[in-house]
Amino acid sequence: MQIDGGCHCGAITFRAEVDPDDVLVCHCTDCQALSGSAFRVVAFTAEDGFEFLIGTPKIYVKTADSGNKREQSFCADCGSPFYSADVGDGPKRYGVRIGTVRQRAELAPKKQYYCGSELAWADDIAGLPRVG
Ligand SMILES: [Zn+2]
Ligand SMILES: [Zn+2]
Repeated sequence: MQIDGGCHCGAITFRAEVDPDDVLVCHCTDCQALSGSAFRVVAFTAEDGFEFLIGTPKIYVKTADSGNKREQSFCADCGSPFYSADVGDGPKRYGVRIGTVRQRAELAPKKQYYCGSELAWADDIAGLPRVG
């Protein structure tokens, strides 16, 4: 599925090819901190299935507890996140953060990961009063 999107301030735009059946929720604490939210939703590309059209992102390399390094791209001006990927050269598979994807309503997650660090209330918002 072809997708496209951009950051909040408009400095950076991208397009990508993702598998709409390979979309997940990640409850890990890194995703909580890096997204600024309770969990993150990620759609995956095939190898090299991501391309920036306008602008250049800033890259932050995150080192996991396992020692595994992942680059995180985001807009240096507004902070909107784009993807994570393995560091270095060679073919990359990108985990696209769907909040900056224009077609995000079509990218419903199919699985949840790192449920051990899920915030207890995160699974229980459907019954909250709806305002606006
Ligand atoms: Zn921006
Ligand atoms: Zn995560």
